[in-house]
Amino acid sequence: TIERVARREEASRNAFEEAKQYIPGGVNSPVRAFKSVGLTPIYVDRGEGSRIYDIDGNTFIDYVCSWGPLIMGHAHPDVVKALQETAVKGTSFGAPTLMETEMAKTVVARVPSVDIVRMVNSGTEATMSAIRLARGFTGRSKILKFEGSYHGHADSLLIKAGSGVATLGLPDSPGVPEGVAMNTITVPYNDLEAVKVAFERYGNEIAAIIVEPIAGNMGVVPPQPGFLEGLRKVTTGYGALLIFDEVMTGFRVGFSSAQGLFGITPDLTCFGKVIGGGLPVGAYGGRRDIMEKMAPSGPIYQAGTLSGNPLAMAAGLTTLKLLTSEVYDRLESLGSRLEQGLKRNALDVGIPLTINRVGSMVCPFFTEGPVTNYDTAKASNLDTFRRYFGEMLGQGISVPPSQFEGMFVSAAHSEQDIDDTIEGHYRALRSL
Ligand code: PMP
Repeated sequence: TIERVARREEASRNAFEEAKQYIPGGVNSPVRAFKSVGLTPIYVDRGEGSRIYDIDGNTFIDYVCSWGPLIMGHAHPDVVKALQETAVKGTSFGAPTLMETEMAKTVVARVPSVDIVRMVNSGTEATMSAIRLARGFTGRSKILKFEGSYHGHADSLLIKAGSGVATLGLPDSPGVPEGVAMNTITVPYNDLEAVKVAFERYGNEIAAIIVEPIAGNMGVVPPQPGFLEGLRKVTTGYGALLIFDEVMTGFRVGFSSAQGLFGITPDLTCFGKVIGGGLPVGAYGGRRDIMEKMAPSGPIYQAGTLSGNPLAMAAGLTTLKLLTSEVYDRLESLGSRLEQGLKRNALDVGIPLTINRVGSMVCPFFTEGPVTNYDTAKASNLDTFRRYFGEMLGQGISVPPSQFEGMFVSAAHSEQDIDDTIEGHYRALRSL
């Protein structure tokens, strides 16, 4: 178990001060700066299994897990071995390799809606490319997304976005031209009526709905019964495409991803995170007749110097192969154990807490709830969250530094880790 000492942070503080002179805000992705919680970021030295170790000598049970990719935990020995064996043969060629076909075959075999798939380098690239494809395929310009959903930082998707944009209170980023923003329609998550109204008005101009089938960037918000089915029906009715953004949920919530859980067949699906096993990867795929419109088989352009990179394929493929149904069962059982413990603590301590969970995606909101969309997520007490986050770090537990992000349990977490986390969480709640 974790030794519980106050977090030492002098080395991290100095490292952050220096980084700020050379990197905007000191970080290469905003939420890492811990700005909204007003604390010094954790400078990680290394990770192993369920733990991260920082440069100050602190150890944390980690529920960020690189924001989702590390479903098998940090530095899984099989992944490390695959990377080592691949690296000595060269790191990038810009020419096809057999591993790329193996990756594509693996995705196609697991996700029935995907006939054919293209690898890219991030979730942002995957959604950006899928949107371009949907527009090119339908000849329409508008897209519909949901408030508080995050689909990466492409211009047309950075409207009323969640994740770090929500954390920092910057829902509509400067730098996105009006002409682009006016083609993005936003409605509340889980509000099928609002979707129908938007389609009654703009139906013949809408190229696609893009949706997180389980929202993960306003905190975790599952789809209500009938919501995804309704989206499928509306899009089909109007000749628009349905794009599932499974960057977070893909291969995390099940063998066939969220679409397998809910039995919905989207036209296109975006992947990221888990599919790269901790290396920079994204992918988009789906119906053959649509995907074949991409160059070189079709006229819509998208390319990448490092796309299908051997190291990325090695880490991703190894991770996907490790993800058996036993692993998903284990993730469900660990997630459930964590959920029950956090709920018990909140009741014992008398703090309003709503816990949304799907499998290994777990999100405690500081509100009576229920949390079903971005507005109800925003009803959470962010000041309580901020103090809770600091207390959790003090207990040796690393959770996402934002109310609008979920915790990720990995297969490397042990029952003991979960129980220690529940105990630390109890102490954290008590000290609020
Ligand atoms: N879509 C979703 C659902 C995501 O959660 C994220 C990242 N959190 C992205 C897209 C963007 O992926 P990336 O950060 O790899 O560009």
